[in-house]
Amino acid sequence: MERNISVYVHIPFCVKKCRYCDFPSFAGADNIDSYFTALTDEIRKERDTRGRTADTVYIGGGTPSCVPPLLIEAVLDELRKTYVINDDTEISMEMNPGTCAETSPEVYRRAGINRISLGCQSFNDKSLKRLGRIHSADDIIKTYDILRNGGFENINLDLISSLPGEGLRDTERSLRKAIGLQPEHISVYSLIIEEGTEFHRLLAAGEMKDLPDEEEQAETDLLIRTILSEEKYKRYEISNYAREGRECRHNICYWKRKEYRGFGLAAASLVGNRRFTNTRDMVYINDPGGILSEDRILSRDEEMAEFMFLGLRQTEGVSASDFSRSFGSAIEEVYGGQLEDQMKKGFMEHPGERYFYNDRGLEVSNILMSEFLL
Ligand code: SF4
Repeated sequence: MERNISVYVHIPFCVKKCRYCDFPSFAGADNIDSYFTALTDEIRKERDTRGRTADTVYIGGGTPSCVPPLLIEAVLDELRKTYVINDDTEISMEMNPGTCAETSPEVYRRAGINRISLGCQSFNDKSLKRLGRIHSADDIIKTYDILRNGGFENINLDLISSLPGEGLRDTERSLRKAIGLQPEHISVYSLIIEEGTEFHRLLAAGEMKDLPDEEEQAETDLLIRTILSEEKYKRYEISNYAREGRECRHNICYWKRKEYRGFGLAAASLVGNRRFTNTRDMVYINDPGGILSEDRILSRDEEMAEFMFLGLRQTEGVSASDFSRSFGSAIEEVYGGQLEDQMKKGFMEHPGERYFYNDRGLEVSNILMSEFLL
């Protein structure tokens, strides 16, 4: 039986590096042409998954919208020669406000892109400046209008909560402005200060004294959940909310451990039980797909643990029958102790054949999920 696949393509270019960003992305336009030549080459060389139907394609970054749209169209043309891409394939692209010309949506749509994820982060100009973003709140609205007028009917807005200097009401204001635009999907991620970022250096130097404390964060999280639920955005993953039927199919594929093939710098793939990841370094362009930072066969224990901690990110949790179908053992045989314990403590529910975290459990899911590592 032919297995479908999801495809990821990484575009590592940005106008400017944001101060909190640890993604594999570079400011400036050096190497764009050679990068795209390498990327197309990697796609063209693909053998193992060639010919399969792509359920979803995700063009992420970086800022895919900061390179000429025709380059993105050329990548999709190449993908169509490698995979079966249908009208119902979800094809998403990440974009940042201020990087989409009036004429670009036409090219993106011609290329088949049918979903846009717009990195807003905040509607507070002071916060946007502090984050090192290149755009203002007005730019978000302008770009959103360009996308809607250009015919995009499936748009996600990304926001970040727990920003330095922001109180509960600032977050609420941003969220309400995002909702006011009526996107189909909203993601709200809590700020995490990663090593190697400018924010991390500032934190170490004692210059980030206005970060919200844990209590304020918990209050903010509760407010976000309440407002989004009142506005008919259903939470389906820790940080992701969608209108009915508008969940991001690509991300769901990761959480359900379906197979995916990633192309480009730092892109990861899961094919069968093999996980491999391209180098994060621009040496990528010298041997696209040939220099890996990780290449290993996952053990059964690792696959079971991934099934649990990825699946439990979703509000629908994990299915006991899927587990036994995948691993030939009952979920209770392998994880009975942890499941029982987390239910007893009031973090997990098990009304039918699924196990899932309630709001209390999702709040501390990082700690709870680590208990499934064998
Ligand atoms: S736009 Fe996104 S990928 Fe680029 S530097 Fe900012 S956070 Fe990182």
